[in-house]
Amino acid sequence: MKILDGKKTSNDIKEELAIEVVKLLSSGGKRPHLAAILVGNDGASETYISAKVKACDKVGFASTLVRFNDDVSQDILLSEIDKINKNTDIDGLIVQLPLPKHIDEMRVTEAIDPTKDVDGFHPANIGKMALNLPTYLPATPAGILELLKRYKVETAGKHCVVVGRSHIVGSPISILMSRNNNPGNCTVTLTHSRTQNLHEITQTADILIVALGKANFITADMVKKGVCIIDVGITRVKSDYTKSGWKLIGDVAFKQVKDKCSFITPVPGGVGPMTIAMLLKNTLKSTKK
Ligand code: NDP
Repeated sequence: MKILDGKKTSNDIKEELAIEVVKLLSSGGKRPHLAAILVGNDGASETYISAKVKACDKVGFASTLVRFNDDVSQDILLSEIDKINKNTDIDGLIVQLPLPKHIDEMRVTEAIDPTKDVDGFHPANIGKMALNLPTYLPATPAGILELLKRYKVETAGKHCVVVGRSHIVGSPISILMSRNNNPGNCTVTLTHSRTQNLHEITQTADILIVALGKANFITADMVKKGVCIIDVGITRVKSDYTKSGWKLIGDVAFKQVKDKCSFITPVPGGVGPMTIAMLLKNTLKSTKK
């Protein structure tokens, strides 16, 4: 069993990006600049946003964090997005999800200029992804591909089972794994809460990508020997044993499953750090354009 180490790989990518930033600046280019909008003060969102801002600092990007209270109107939010769209110094814009219920997430996603949509959530970019055209790939699925590539996991001809069909993870990764690319060229089965006989399907997976948000959902009896498992899930639970008082648990019962795997991502330290690294990569790509 080999660990797909997202922490190490993301640090490698950040080092590569920092070198590219130095090169870009020394050749007269501009410093990459990521803007992030955070609405409200949800604990998990605060953690994700501060990790993204810190990562910008680390690689030499500029960053701007715009905060709104959770009662901000949709119109005010849209007008801030419009302002950032027009700001030529800003290369990438992300709006941290989820948003409060009174705000239409799709309306907000569509308001972001697709050329600055470094999260890759805009319908125009999702369409290009599906057609295998150059675009910003959604950061979490892009992080999964990068891990598979750097660890040379064979994907062509394999059966890839994806659990969960969200717009940000399950659905795009199922498209990416089926494209005629490397990584890719899998035969993909996309499963969700209405899927029947999930156990039987996951048992046939050569590559199992799990993104449903239920701690320890995938157990040893659900997978075959030699499977490669990508665990996207993050559930925060209270803990007396950590400094923060919280710990993160994946969707896969890691301890009982790991010995059956050829490869597996840990939680934390797997897909999570890769998501941030790919967001930075997308931002640099936007700057270079
Ligand atoms: P969503 O909550 O949007 O979607 C969950 C999906 O799981 C849905 O498609 C749902 O099906 C499916 N599902 C729920 N129960 C079952 C079940 N019993 N059997 C099969 N499928 C089921 O999730 P996200 O994709 O946004 O997030 C998933 C997890 O990944 C979360 O823990 C989240 O925190 C984490 N995450 C981690 C990231 C990272 O960087 N590591 C980035 C993004 C998310 P249906 O559609 O039928 O309701």
